[in-house]
Amino acid sequence: MTIQKITIPKRDFNGYFVGFSKIKVVWECPTCGGKMGEPQLTPHVEDGFHGSIHAWENQCGHVTKYEDLKGHMQ
Ligand SMILES: [Zn+2]
Repeated sequence: MTIQKITIPKRDFNGYFVGFSKIKVVWECPTCGGKMGEPQLTPHVEDGFHGSIHAWENQCGHVTKYEDLKGHMQ
């Protein structure tokens, strides 16, 4: 099992962007259990916050939502 530390947008329960959060997640596709792609740090600007978040592409073709990641801590 691979654990990956990534940075994602942090949102409140209304979906408003409130900053960035670093999380540790199980690095496998929540849909099929396949290996997920290498996370790339990409610039992210939203609501006056400037930072970077990780983005990745899965070889299996599934698009992983942040909220579907296992081990998601918020
Ligand atoms: Zn998949």
